[in-house]
Amino acid sequence: MHLLVVEDDRKLGRLLRRLLEEDRHVVELAVDGRTGLELALDAPGIDAMILDIGLPDISGLDVAREVRAAGSDLAILVLTARDTVGDRVTGLDSGADDYLVKPFAYEELAARLRALSRRSAVGLSRPGPRLVNGSIVLDEGTRRVTVDERAVNLSPREFALLECLLRHPGRVMTRDQLLDQAWPYGVSVTLNAVDAYVHYLREKLGAAGQRIETVRGVGYRMATA
Ligand code: CA
Repeated sequence: MHLLVVEDDRKLGRLLRRLLEEDRHVVELAVDGRTGLELALDAPGIDAMILDIGLPDISGLDVAREVRAAGSDLAILVLTARDTVGDRVTGLDSGADDYLVKPFAYEELAARLRALSRRSAVGLSRPGPRLVNGSIVLDEGTRRVTVDERAVNLSPREFALLECLLRHPGRVMTRDQLLDQAWPYGVSVTLNAVDAYVHYLREKLGAAGQRIETVRGVGYRMATA
C-alpha cells in the first residue's frame, strides 16, 4: 500500500516508516498537521493515512475532518495517546475509519491496516487478503509473493508495482498511475523508471512475468486469462 504517516514524534515516525517499508509499503512521512493535510489532498496514489491526533499545529482530528470535507475517501487510522471513550468517539466522528491507542505493538498496526485495505478494496472482488493471478500469489497479510509456491524476493518498489497491477486485473494501469503508487511523492523519477522496475519484476517472476502485459505507449496490464 501507499501510506501517509503523520506523526510529530520524529523517532516514532522514523520507526514506523522503517517497519512499514520492511513490509514493502511505500511510505510518506509528515511531521505536522498542515503538511499531512497537504499530502493527503495532493499526493496521488495514497491508499491510507496513519494520523496522530496530538500534532503541533492543527490537531489530527482537524486533518481528518478537512480530508473528509474535501470529499476524499482515503482510509484513515488515527493514533491517540489517550485511551478515553471521548477521544475514540471524536476520532471516528471526525471521519477516521479506525483508531489505535498509543503505545501499540507494530503487529497491531499492521493488522488494522490489513482490515482497512480490505475495506477500501470493497468492489474489487477480493475475497481475502491474497491477490491471485495465475501462478502468482501476493499475500497482503504476510507481504510475501510466491510463484508456484516458490517464494519470490521483491524490493518494495517491485512489490508495490505488482500489488497495484494485481488489484486491477485486466485494467490498463498507466505509467503515471504506477509511478504514483510505487514511488513516494516528490521523489524525482522519470516514467522510464517504471519500465525499468517492471522489467526487474518480470525477470524475478520468471515465466509468470509474462502475465504483466505491455500496453504500448500507455502502461501495463495484468492478464486475466
Ligand atoms: Ca503527537
